[in-house]
Amino acid sequence: MNDKLVKKEGCPYCKGVREVGAPDCGCGGSLAKPPDQRTIDEMWGTLKKGPDSNMTVNQLVIYANKVAREKGWWEPGKESSFGEVVALMHSELSEALEEFRGRKPTMYEKDGKPEGLAVELADCVIRIADYCGQYGINLGAVIEWKMAYNEGREYRHGGKKI
Ligand SMILES: [Mg+2]
Repeated sequence: MNDKLVKKEGCPYCKGVREVGAPDCGCGGSLAKPPDQRTIDEMWGTLKKGPDSNMTVNQLVIYANKVAREKGWWEPGKESSFGEVVALMHSELSEALEEFRGRKPTMYEKDGKPEGLAVELADCVIRIADYCGQYGINLGAVIEWKMAYNEGREYRHGGKKI
């Protein structure tokens, strides 16, 4: 990204300066501070849910965290560590691989539960979204920021094989 085009603003967590859309200035404040739950709860009522919802990334973040909190996964004092959360994200990708290895349909239903490679990928995204909701990470903005950077990278990122 061209430095002249990068917009800056005050970091909401410290006295530093962050790029607009970045979660913080590098201070890690967005990881340390919980989100404003009132804002999430207020926004919850405005979400359109269902298969045609066309949810934005940040609406998904709100939805995933809302459901996880309601199910007790972020009960104060019982929160999972970052390592545990990442391990659970990995576990969803392993489940996706097992679905692929078993040559199962991409999506199917078993005893009323959604299953399949696509569902396991969705589970991983849901876990990531939940984490971002819990710690106030603006995932939509971060994805846009990183994709803009990726767009400017060299072909195969400088000749990498994979
Ligand atoms: Mg799963």
